[in-house]
Amino acid sequence: MPWCYPNPWTGNTKRVRKVLALLLVLALAALTAATTASAREGSRFHPAVETRLGIVATESPAAAQVGRDVLERGGNAADAAAATVFALNAARPQSCGIGGGGFLVYREANGRSDSIDFRETAPAAFTPDTLVPPGLHKTFTGHLTVGVPGTLAGLDLLLHRYGTRSLAQSIAPAAQLARRGVPVEQSLSDSMAANADRLKLFPAAAAQFLQNGEPYPAGSILRQPDLARSLELIARKGTRAFYGGEIAQRIVDDMHTGATQPGDDHKLELGDFKAYRSKSRRPLVGGYRGRTIVSVPPPSSGGTTLLEMLNILSGYDLRGLGPSSADELHFVAEAQKLAWADRNKYVADPDFVDVPTAGLISPRYGAQRRAEIDPAHAQTYEPGTPPQSSSHHKPGGSPADTNPQASTTHVSIIDSRGNAIALTCTIEQEFGSAVVAPGTGFLLNNELTDFGDPGTANEPGPGKRPRSSMAPTIVVQGRTPVLVVGGAGGARIIMGVVDSVLNVIDFGYDIAHAVDAERTDDPTGTMTIEDARIDASVLDELTARGHTLARVGEYDIRPRVQAAGIDPRTGVRSGVSDPRTDQATLAQRYRARRSR
Ligand code: GLU
Repeated sequence: MPWCYPNPWTGNTKRVRKVLALLLVLALAALTAATTASAREGSRFHPAVETRLGIVATESPAAAQVGRDVLERGGNAADAAAATVFALNAARPQSCGIGGGGFLVYREANGRSDSIDFRETAPAAFTPDTLVPPGLHKTFTGHLTVGVPGTLAGLDLLLHRYGTRSLAQSIAPAAQLARRGVPVEQSLSDSMAANADRLKLFPAAAAQFLQNGEPYPAGSILRQPDLARSLELIARKGTRAFYGGEIAQRIVDDMHTGATQPGDDHKLELGDFKAYRSKSRRPLVGGYRGRTIVSVPPPSSGGTTLLEMLNILSGYDLRGLGPSSADELHFVAEAQKLAWADRNKYVADPDFVDVPTAGLISPRYGAQRRAEIDPAHAQTYEPGTPPQSSSHHKPGGSPADTNPQASTTHVSIIDSRGNAIALTCTIEQEFGSAVVAPGTGFLLNNELTDFGDPGTANEPGPGKRPRSSMAPTIVVQGRTPVLVVGGAGGARIIMGVVDSVLNVIDFGYDIAHAVDAERTDDPTGTMTIEDARIDASVLDELTARGHTLARVGEYDIRPRVQAAGIDPRTGVRSGVSDPRTDQATLAQRYRARRSR
């Protein structure tokens, strides 16, 4: 009977196991120390908020409280997101609201994912040449820049599909914030000052967002009774109050009578509102170093560009090269320029243009593009020919979305059950078109300025959606959403998301370090670089390779990222707001008594 004989290993098994366990712990500690040490914390670094329940990451304290409250009352991630976005309309009106649009990616705890496109849409009378003649729209302002808003239809669809609460319940806290007033954040006060001249062109906008022509000071209270009335009307009558009723009528009336400036043209009519639909679209799914990346499909370029870049970068050992080494920054910049050339040429509204989406995000095409990179020299690149691209493609590339004031806002939420949502909403630039139709109480977007030139894939067209850069994304490891991320900042959003993904996957940073770390952005040959934390020798080496650097110090103002994630080992959820923006990430404190 073998167990009767002393086995030379048996007596030592416990000790050997202990030694092995100790070695493993030491190795893990060394690895953690190595990764943390390589993430140089900036002066505004702050740790993530942690919980075993739900988490809401936003850049609005008042809206984050609304989202958390929904979780604490038993709502799920979809419910919390809808209520948070309505609240953002009251608390961060310069960035988001029912006068705008956006995109979301939702991943249920069971692993199913979905994406909703609630992008603004051009009126039926819009043609490729509509934005060509001079006019107020050239300053990203006025009635002609306004697309049919999609936010309300998008949130309604989200609630209908995944929510447990009604539209009216989701709107109620926002209506209350609008009626009772919200504290004005410094960011809102600054933005009111920066946009005062534009707001003064439209009396209802000036009356709502300026006090005797001056910005509200930070800490003062902003009351928006017209917004409260609009929200309460929608809560009572549903989306038809907006798309088929009083609110659309007020907007259209203002289109016809609200111009105070020469060159403030308009195209939006009632029929455009009635025709609007938010769209459920299959999210893009890709792989990167064993993780699954779920992101937003066209008409946003966020997902295709992210996935094409990751496919290109998968051929390099970025971790071995080291974060913010000259090689790592070089390969990321080259991958971005390659993906950007394709984005500019091919990505537009897929309901109007034959976008070779599957080709753009195929690993094989990524490898093909990677072969164009010279490790020693910065280059500029032509668009490639992804599989499935056809001769129908318009010839010209169209960078467009060059508005330097672009600004939107993002919400990342995970609930206690593990449902996750990344939602980006916008009215395009801060204060959008600057138009508020009298009596409505919300800003109208200037999203149609995201269209490109006539003759390009992204040219304007009737009923068409302009290409976006919004990039709500969920990174899944095994079955766990380890990073739920997105950001604000126009075309710069994409690199905010790419850098966060690389920092988590390649460099093993926790989400707080991933979002805090220095960023670069090099769409077409000038590398904007947060250089303060980067070694001088690295900057010299990049210049020697031919990169043109635009140094912006420690933190640039864009992009602004919101992130959340679940630790697959412990189940702990963490969330963080970009240190470049207002800090408004909150953890759920207790479970609802009756959790649905
Ligand atoms: N209009 C931009 C886009 O759709 C969003 C605005 C912003 O983030 O700043 O890409």
